[in-house]
Amino acid sequence: MKVVSDIFIIGGGLAGWRAAEAAVAGGASVTLVANGVGNSPDIHALNCPVLPEDSVEQFVEDTLSSGKYENDRLLVEAMCRESLTLKDEFAFDDTVIRPLGSSIPRCVSIRHAIGAIALGDIKKRLKNKITVENRTVTAEDVLAIRAERPDVRIIIATGGWCGKYDFSTNPGYLKGDGLLIAEALGGAVKDVDENHVQYEPTVRVEGLRRGIPVITTLLYEGARLLNMDGEEFLGDARLNKDELSKAIFDQGGYAIYDLTEVPDDKLLECRMDLSERMIKVAPAPHSSLGGIVIDSKCRVLDHDGVPVPGVFACGEVTAGVHGLNRLGGNGGTAAMVFGTIAGREATLEVKNEQI
Ligand SMILES: Cc1cc2nc3c(=O)[nH]c(=O)nc-3n(C[C@H](O)[C@H](O)[C@H](O)COP(=O)(O)OP(=O)(O)OC[C@H]3O[C@@H](n4cnc5c(N)ncnc54)[C@H](O)[C@@H]3O)c2cc1C
Repeated sequence: MKVVSDIFIIGGGLAGWRAAEAAVAGGASVTLVANGVGNSPDIHALNCPVLPEDSVEQFVEDTLSSGKYENDRLLVEAMCRESLTLKDEFAFDDTVIRPLGSSIPRCVSIRHAIGAIALGDIKKRLKNKITVENRTVTAEDVLAIRAERPDVRIIIATGGWCGKYDFSTNPGYLKGDGLLIAEALGGAVKDVDENHVQYEPTVRVEGLRRGIPVITTLLYEGARLLNMDGEEFLGDARLNKDELSKAIFDQGGYAIYDLTEVPDDKLLECRMDLSERMIKVAPAPHSSLGGIVIDSKCRVLDHDGVPVPGVFACGEVTAGVHGLNRLGGNGGTAAMVFGTIAGREATLEVKNEQI
């Protein structure tokens, strides 16, 4: 595979396309290769501290406490700080939702489809400005590109690895190819284990929509979880996603999501079908929390913590941002923010070299 651009991006989710947009804005040429759309079109809302009573500091604290303080603090601070720029970029709807585990409403969107809308807009803006290819990239491909073009900057944005599980909310092609690519280039990978899999607690187990989650914020709107004997088992507790998954596993692994008391307008807001009121659900692997080790400039680090020259990573393929539990809404924010940082930093290197 031949790359003639300054920057080679692997991955066509929000992280990859945001990196491409930042690189083009900085004057670099870009090739972006992807083998699917990834999870980004499914992002219905993301975190941005828009309310006057919110702050970057509170956002940092909520992210760290959700992650059981196992997060990389510098990455969390970079994400929360830079998320403020999203306020100027997007005309968010007025509704601000409180994600499970947050101290305050912070989840914003545009027509409940910010992932698909943001991706569509970027693709329009970059039409004919970058080279796009549809194919699977392997570690061998990247090593060959490096051998021929050592100056090309590589951005790994291949998303998470939950697609390797049979019952998962992810497409099967998201298996963690980016981890192999990073390792082949000398990068370190961490936390790729069962402790760093975020389960989505309430995923449909039956019918054509098997594997599609039912949004957990409905628990703030009158929804209840019943065990298979029809008994409510959460009471008033409103738990983190990992605690909620554990509570369902403790009940035998399945639950009925009872939406009978949720007002119609709330269900419609969450793009739910009004005829679906009692849904059989189970926790399923949803987001991977471990991956490629990066610094806050998205440079891939080796096992000694030293940047691997010319290699960057962003989005769900990276480790450290979410700790042991991802605060709902932070997958989208991380992809947006770190995608832009990776594209910007890779372009700065290209430009500095050209001076
Ligand atoms: C159903 C669902 C709903 C979600 N809803 C939300 C939400 O509302 N809010 C939120 O914050 N987060 C949400 N998330 C999490 C969020 O979608 C992800 O964290 C985010 O999209 C990650 O973006 P990304 O660009 O890193 O990866 P992705 O969007 O997954 O993109 C990965 C890209 O890499 C490509 N790729 C992978 N391997 C290769 C390869 N070898 N060669 C070429 N290309 C490759 C894929 O084809 C894809 O284009 C949701 C996740 C799911 C599954």
